[in-house]
Amino acid sequence: MEFSDLGLSLDLVRRVAEVGYQKPTPIQEQAIPHILQGRDILGCAQTGTGKTASFTLPMIDILASGRAKARMPRSLILEPTRELAAQVATNFETMGRDHKLSMALLIGGESFTDQIKKLDRGVDVLIGTPGRLIDLFERGNILLSDIKIFVIDEADRMLDMGFIPDIERIVSLLPRIRQTLFFSATMPTEIRRLADAFLVNPREITVAPPASPAETVDHRYALVYEGDKRKVLRQLLRVSEVRNALIFCNRKKDVSHLAQSLERHGFNVGALHGDMPQVRRTATLEGFKDGRINLLVCSDVAARGLDIAGLSHVFNFDVPINPEDYVHRIGRTGRAGRSGQAVTLATGEDGKQIAAIAKLISRDIPRIDVSGFDSPSFEDDDEVRPARKGRSGGKHKSKDRRKDRDGAGNGRTPASEPAERLGASAFDAIPDRPFERLDTPPSTAAGSGRRGEDRPARRRQRDFSSDEPDQPVVGFGDHVPEFLKRPARPA
Ligand code: AMP
Repeated sequence: MEFSDLGLSLDLVRRVAEVGYQKPTPIQEQAIPHILQGRDILGCAQTGTGKTASFTLPMIDILASGRAKARMPRSLILEPTRELAAQVATNFETMGRDHKLSMALLIGGESFTDQIKKLDRGVDVLIGTPGRLIDLFERGNILLSDIKIFVIDEADRMLDMGFIPDIERIVSLLPRIRQTLFFSATMPTEIRRLADAFLVNPREITVAPPASPAETVDHRYALVYEGDKRKVLRQLLRVSEVRNALIFCNRKKDVSHLAQSLERHGFNVGALHGDMPQVRRTATLEGFKDGRINLLVCSDVAARGLDIAGLSHVFNFDVPINPEDYVHRIGRTGRAGRSGQAVTLATGEDGKQIAAIAKLISRDIPRIDVSGFDSPSFEDDDEVRPARKGRSGGKHKSKDRRKDRDGAGNGRTPASEPAERLGASAFDAIPDRPFERLDTPPSTAAGSGRRGEDRPARRRQRDFSSDEPDQPVVGFGDHVPEFLKRPARPA
């Protein structure tokens, strides 16, 4: 099927071709014609499936052919995170370049004054996060009574982040007669209930999660002692051909600490987590996207949906607690069929999680040995414990592990060699990989990642606070949402 078969205007079909989309993705094929006919949509689709354009394209045509009452927004798109809202706004601007539609991006952490000025001039499309939208409504800056198309994107993520009451409130402010497009990566009962309440006779569409990241990404893990993780990471960064990398930590406190540590070792690094002020989140992300920063240490706030062109590596400094998060994290690389590398640092406790991830992505994850560092064994009675996030890392633990390995610890029997269990191949058995140079001394390989080498030295303003409260951030990777522990109900 071609874009020209979907009922879109010729202008838009031309624009899509200019942007470089050759064929519609399955969600676009299935959703666009029904949206153009005015149907409600219940879409079970993840980011990476082309979901954004599946609603922005028909919305542009519908809005372009209708007329606005003076200064009244006619459509509203709700996103769970500021970054996703900004990304959808960019897609809207790119696709709608030749249409005279105006748009306001309403996200927290940015100036109210600018957003209000924009609203006062009149906009067709509101794109925002629930909190800021409600704030603006309560201040009397938004009228929602002329909304004709309402999009709830990433509904399960909204649930995860505790936004459902806000969404129910927003829906109560909208006209009853409207078109609603509802997207969620999974369909747990709570999300179904919402969909039933918000949608009228929806067209249900389910598309397979994008399998491509798992397929085009080269997955590896290194089995290391907790106390060696930073050194191992630095070694991997130096000897791998890292153009740019996201480095995921499970806790936001560790994000700041690791970023500081890498900076002290001369890496060109930024930090991103959900507790940072939005101005810094945006500036850091922009710096990373445009190449001024080439390493970004982050929490799972950066794992969903972010589209970073040509990301070469994803490092998991911590094995994600939930295997689904692994898929989201590594999905930032290997996009659009490109190749990418995902390297996970696992400790002796992480055997079951690595096995769970390998099962989820239906691939073996080969193990690499990092020269100069001993590897512990996986503990065979290890459990994936929610309490893991509270455990202390560092040297004591490593020592304890070494004791365990030497038989002087708690008497646990080490599991059989994980390399065999997970179908791993030893690092030196894969000579055609960039990792083969792990034995080479730190030299030019990470040149692009080091300040003052092949890029001008830049000192950016940074404020990595080291004493942030170590509270879990709901939805930002420190928290396993209940619904992810249950099987999704088939659509
Ligand atoms: P999304 O799932 O909306 O986050 O889209 C994931 C990525 O796929 C984005 O980089 C889009 O620009 C890109 N994309 C979306 N639709 C198409 C298409 N039909 N052809 C090629 N790339 C696309």
